[in-house]
Amino acid sequence: MVTYQYRCAACGDVDVRRPMGAATSHVPCPRCGADARRVYTSPRTRLVAPGLVSALDTAGASAENPQVVRREVAPRAPRHAHPLHARLPRP
Ligand SMILES: [Zn+2]
Repeated sequence: MVTYQYRCAACGDVDVRRPMGAATSHVPCPRCGADARRVYTSPRTRLVAPGLVSALDTAGASAENPQVVRREVAPRAPRHAHPLHARLPRP
């Protein structure tokens, strides 16, 4: 069974479950009986982990409305692995 989306002028979007390939361009609205036209959407063929959905939503929200940094981050002093690097001339 596949969930097809239809749009009723009075009720808005309604979902109708039918066998794959059995969708028609119009169906009677299951709520009010008026004519509802099919809306073509992306297929929902995979289940996505809830954590991934929340991460994608957060990333999308951050891209459009990023959080403001409230304080400036001080630059870190360079760390040298070898003690003789500290004796090299500095600019
Ligand atoms: Zn309706």
